[in-house]
Amino acid sequence: MEAMGNPLDMRWREQAACADIDVNLFFPPPGQEGRSQARLAIKLCDSCPVKADCLAYALTFDHRSLPGIWGGTTEHQRFKMFRDGVVEKPTRPYRRITTTNLRGNPT
Ligand code: SF4
Repeated sequence: MEAMGNPLDMRWREQAACADIDVNLFFPPPGQEGRSQARLAIKLCDSCPVKADCLAYALTFDHRSLPGIWGGTTEHQRFKMFRDGVVEKPTRPYRRITTTNLRGNPT
């Protein structure tokens, strides 16, 4: 699976497996209930045709700026990718993206 190109070109969202699903599924609360919810969301991501694009997009943000499940990863998994040098941590200023402003382009 390979991302389509510029991750900030969000046309990939039109093909998202989660397009018609309540966005709150992808923002699990802490605790056991949240872990079950995260597993469900990640399972959906695994069948998503734009998973790579979604992950590429998420990795353009500091993990604290973009919480939740993106491209089949949790915020903590993305933190570890940055920490371990798997991908370079973005340098854009920290700004927390919320479900309220998620519907638009949060760039
Ligand atoms: S990878 Fe997951 S969060 Fe991203 S668009 Fe697909 S289903 Fe939605």
